[in-house]
Amino acid sequence: MPTPASPYIGRFAPSPSGPLHFGSLVAAAGSFLDARSQGGRWLLRIEDVDTPRCIPGAAEDILRTLARFGFEWDGEPVWQSRRHAAYAAALTRLVDAAQAYPCACTRRELADSALAPDGSRIYPGTCRNGLPPGRSARAWRVRAEGTLQFDDGVQGLQVEDLAREAGDFIVLRADGLYAYQLAVVVDDAEAGVTHVVRGADLLTSTGRQICLQRLLGYPTPHYAHLPVATNAAGEKLSKQTLARAVDAQPPGAALLAALAFLGQNPPAELARAPLAEIWRWAQAHWSLAAVPRTRQIAVAHP
Ligand code: GLU
Repeated sequence: MPTPASPYIGRFAPSPSGPLHFGSLVAAAGSFLDARSQGGRWLLRIEDVDTPRCIPGAAEDILRTLARFGFEWDGEPVWQSRRHAAYAAALTRLVDAAQAYPCACTRRELADSALAPDGSRIYPGTCRNGLPPGRSARAWRVRAEGTLQFDDGVQGLQVEDLAREAGDFIVLRADGLYAYQLAVVVDDAEAGVTHVVRGADLLTSTGRQICLQRLLGYPTPHYAHLPVATNAAGEKLSKQTLARAVDAQPPGAALLAALAFLGQNPPAELARAPLAEIWRWAQAHWSLAAVPRTRQIAVAHP
């Protein structure tokens, strides 16, 4: 049970773009165990801000699966789709401080720009000092400047030159939706999240998130990025790579596989143990230091 005195607040923030698969079970288990082993709270947030990518019913399905696996979260889940006013207020603050600016560029106009490590385009700065004559705003971007560093709890020291590796990034998209980077930072700050434990595919987003935290005057949480489960071709498990829904597997076996993936070395006898006993063992023995310090690990049967 969480101790109210513990300053630790963690969270799991699935996007409802499909059912929970092994990769998301790993992130859920890692964030849950890290929080509970330190007497912390563990919050749930449904990241349905990118509505075109959401599948109807997927969020409810994820919540049901988490409950069936024995996860217990604190309070009601937060839904990003209901938090537009909070994101709008944050954007207004960025605009008022001249940290965000309107951008008229289309995707096609940016097609030749340099590629960032996460595959997005690094903005060449066309609208940075004002919209070109005759053009109107499509999106809003934040100025990304300077070098920042953070000590990741699993991946070690990370250093990012924001201008070179991310560039000015979008906070309000051309389709009128708030960008993931802004939503996550506003939500984590409002919930008082102190520890973010999530998949290493988000390591390349962390610099932009810390940049936003600084511009908005929010504290920066501790970060720990867990290895991501991939298929044999090195692709992250997702609906697109046809990862099996974890719900189709017995929860105890899938949880033990997730613990083994996280380097926790569960004893073989637990294979026949009830789910609650597996959780008891996992919480008592959780070690972030035992998690492999690598960004991805291939799994045999996703
Ligand atoms: N919604 C993101 C995902 O499902 C996770 C975001 C986060 O943990 O910050 O990949």
